[in-house]
Amino acid sequence: MGVAETQGATLTTVADVTCPVCGCTCDDLKLTLDGDRVVSTERACGLAEPWFRDQSAARPAIAELDGHSALLKDALDRAAEILAGADAPLVYGLSRSSTPGQRAAVLLADHLGAVVDTTASICHGPSIMAVQKVGESTCTLGEIRNRADLVIFWGCNPAVTHPRHAERYSVFATGRWTPQGRADRKVIMVGDQRYVRNWRLDADGALPDQFISIHPKRDFEVLTALRSLLAGKPLANAERMSETLGVSVDVLADLAQQMKSCRCGIVFFGLGLTETKLDAITETSGQGHLNVENLLKLVAELNAFTRFHARRMRIQGDVTGADSVMCWQTGYPFSVSMSRGYPRYNPGEFSANEVLERGEADVCLLVGTETVSFFSPAARQHLESIPTIVLDYPATVTERLPTVKFTTAVYGLHAPGTIYRMDEVPIGLRPGLKTAYPTDETILRELLTRIAPRAVRASDFD
Ligand code: SF4
Repeated sequence: MGVAETQGATLTTVADVTCPVCGCTCDDLKLTLDGDRVVSTERACGLAEPWFRDQSAARPAIAELDGHSALLKDALDRAAEILAGADAPLVYGLSRSSTPGQRAAVLLADHLGAVVDTTASICHGPSIMAVQKVGESTCTLGEIRNRADLVIFWGCNPAVTHPRHAERYSVFATGRWTPQGRADRKVIMVGDQRYVRNWRLDADGALPDQFISIHPKRDFEVLTALRSLLAGKPLANAERMSETLGVSVDVLADLAQQMKSCRCGIVFFGLGLTETKLDAITETSGQGHLNVENLLKLVAELNAFTRFHARRMRIQGDVTGADSVMCWQTGYPFSVSMSRGYPRYNPGEFSANEVLERGEADVCLLVGTETVSFFSPAARQHLESIPTIVLDYPATVTERLPTVKFTTAVYGLHAPGTIYRMDEVPIGLRPGLKTAYPTDETILRELLTRIAPRAVRASDFD
């Protein structure tokens, strides 16, 4: 957070606050505080405003045992006892945290021999697998702001998931080579014909220049058609092709031409392309990584003609940071097992949802619970049958009573830290409010101290 100034007797304003709610991590918010509560915000979108108010207003106990307030020491002792006695612990979450908390969670998982997984496994996991296979023509959001004259949103609705993305980075923002902002850009939305025409660029309902609607689950074929057109191979039997894809070949030819002839293009892609449905993970087709692979290949091939990039629209505030910390601590971004004393990576086998579905975890440590409701019914059923230890922010409501619950300080509001924007740019967080809540890093470190005292070295946390 930036400069604080006092307004009257009790109100204080804090400028340049970073918002950790979604992957945009807007760093220009202004909060008005009354003591230790946020009473109003400036430049916070419809997702951020209630989040900041709620996190500062909620006052649950620091520690709870079976739903009852408890002394922190007793809760730590109980949690450590449960974890130390587990045969197959699972550590899950990490995207509503910060680099120090993520590091501590991975370190604890290492010493426990646990499976450790992040929320990426139920959102952009297929995209990460595709990037690992074919690479990614990447860029920062700053480059897009300054250069992009063709912006394509594929399988995503930024008005709902990233309300200020268009304003700050991709559509309306002015840049060095885009001095007129919106007027310097062509904006296209591509997606499932059942939804795409209701998608909007921002919360004010701004429209793209063009909607391209396609049949559900035909992304792979549409991308293949675009690659053929780009390679100068005309599509045979255009009428039948149009019927199959749900979009005319002429529209695709025009899109391919626009992609080739722009100065700098970008495809922002969302979960509509990975085909993972957040409201029912069991509907995942399992082919999402192939869609993303095809898109990444198309974008790489476009670089023979012009400058083109692809970027994921990451949803949770620091899921990108969770990937990064997992990579530098274990070598892999998510779905890692430490059960043999060294990291093994296998999405599906070591993904939290599947581990729980198969009943393989006997204890679950949840570092943030906001995505647990997206687990399959079978996974949730098993989760309810085993001891759970939850670390979460004050205003987060858990679906069921955990065995042990710790309420932790909010990074960026109460505690310093680092989160990663969706383009992997690290952003420092400075606290503006005081709190008695410990950070998740502190709790995890205390647990490790109890479980493996000799394993805790200062260097583990430096
Ligand atoms: S767009 Fe995202 S990061 Fe920006 S204010 Fe809204 S929720 Fe926060």
